[in-house]
Amino acid sequence: MTSARLPVVRVADYALDGIAATLGAVTPEQGGALLGIPGSDTVTQFVHDRSADVTSVRYHNTDWLIQEINQVERRTAARFKGIIHSHPRGMPYPSGQDRSEFARSLELNTALTRYLAPIVTHDVTTALDGHELVLDGCRMSFFGASQSESGLRLTPMRPVVLPVRRALTRAGFTAVDEPALITVGDSAMLGTTGEIGGLGLVTILFGADYPATAPLVFLGESGPIPLDWELGVPGEDRLERVVGRLRSRPAKVPLQARSAGLLSPALADRRVLVVGAGSVGSYLTEVLARSGVGAFTLVDPEEVAAENLGRSAYRVDDVGTPKVEALARLVRAVNPAAEVAGYAAALDGLPIEDLAKLVEGCDLVVAATDDNQAQGRLDHLAYWFGKPAVFPALYRGAEGGEVIMVAAGLPCWGCSTGGVRAATAEQESPLRRTDYGTGRLIAEPGLLVDIHHVSSVAGKLALGLLHPDSEDVAAMRFAAGVRERGANYAVFANRPDYWIFASVLADTYGQYAYQSIWLAPSRDEACPVCGEQEGRTDPTAYTAEAPGADLLAAYRREAAPGE
Ligand SMILES: [Zn+2]
Ligand SMILES: [Zn+2]
Repeated sequence: MTSARLPVVRVADYALDGIAATLGAVTPEQGGALLGIPGSDTVTQFVHDRSADVTSVRYHNTDWLIQEINQVERRTAARFKGIIHSHPRGMPYPSGQDRSEFARSLELNTALTRYLAPIVTHDVTTALDGHELVLDGCRMSFFGASQSESGLRLTPMRPVVLPVRRALTRAGFTAVDEPALITVGDSAMLGTTGEIGGLGLVTILFGADYPATAPLVFLGESGPIPLDWELGVPGEDRLERVVGRLRSRPAKVPLQARSAGLLSPALADRRVLVVGAGSVGSYLTEVLARSGVGAFTLVDPEEVAAENLGRSAYRVDDVGTPKVEALARLVRAVNPAAEVAGYAAALDGLPIEDLAKLVEGCDLVVAATDDNQAQGRLDHLAYWFGKPAVFPALYRGAEGGEVIMVAAGLPCWGCSTGGVRAATAEQESPLRRTDYGTGRLIAEPGLLVDIHHVSSVAGKLALGLLHPDSEDVAAMRFAAGVRERGANYAVFANRPDYWIFASVLADTYGQYAYQSIWLAPSRDEACPVCGEQEGRTDPTAYTAEAPGADLLAAYRREAAPGE
């Protein structure tokens, strides 16, 4: 039989090392147990029967070994696979007496379909067969015993080394213990935790077909990191390559290296609540993360669809993943130190107590939903808890848009939109014409550049609002100027002669497109959100059955008093 046609037995290299260091180092006959992956001819552990009587001519396992096997089976997912023992020189195969013991073991261990029974000898000079290997002056000849109709069948098996220890050593990994077999979903994996210089605490899980497939690598407490597993590289080099690349990653990303004096490192301690992770929300999250904002809470009920890729921050790998999860991945890819919490839910799908906690726990709200009711609800909560907020929105076709900045002392979003709507009523207004409630850019055609143009202003305001008052950097002055003027409602024209821009800027030299006008809406003293203190209502008092209903009714009355 050629070796290629022999059944394969996979053996972890550290188990082979253990065999060579014990059975291989002493006079026959000695032995030990093999344990491994249930239902597979894979050996992941060797237990030396060290208390066996060495004066005896023939090896017979001890009660101590049986107890050890039971212990390993209790502690790990590894299961008993068979017994390896040594023979005198010139006998690299099981004896007649061995065969009858194999048969007895198969009867006792009914879960075993194949009993692994390799023989160790010290003959390393004769040519090796396909079922043999030599390691450290020790020859291992692999056999498997199984029951058949005609009695015991003994089959030579081709050993394939699972190079786990070799790979770990080359990667500079210092483990405390040998890897242990654990259950991951439906399969068993070899897990080990240790240190790698420059990476700290690392946990690695190897599959039985390693190094054909990539291991799972966990750094610290974070989830498995995506690895570029190069199949073109020799198997024993792959882990070393991966570790080399991980090591060359900066421990801390200097995100503000090119914005010193404009932004403050204090942003690393700030948390932004982003509601709506579509074109606007995903863009703003990425911008804020790259600017050094350290924590995000993301809320969006949808999954990434292929159609989103042309107009958002998502990638092909994200399709089918909840947007909040994909966006969290993007943030961590930019800044591994960032803290991201995601809620794959619609705003009205969150209990009001939870939503209130999210708003209260953040430093700024980005309200980027397509839903006026949700925007109004966020407005009320943010105002109530004294959190600044930005409300970016695109008009039909993304030909124009608006950004409303709300902070203490400024009119709320409801007052701002209501006031501007009334003030522009005589104009040919996109707000008026398309019904403000549904005129936003949902599945509308619109260019990503136009969406970014409007969103980037929201981003700049957000960066300013996020700085604590104790700081003094340029980004703060931009938002502060808006506050001083009370002009918290910016409208944008993304094409020439758009809406009010055509008439307002008619006599201004050099106009074409991408202008902005900063409007100063007035506050309604009776507004339940931003009006006189005693007239304000508690947004957390809304019931989950009718989210934001009071507010919306109030907003509608206020926005269209004549209707
Ligand atoms: Zn024997
Ligand atoms: Zn108001």
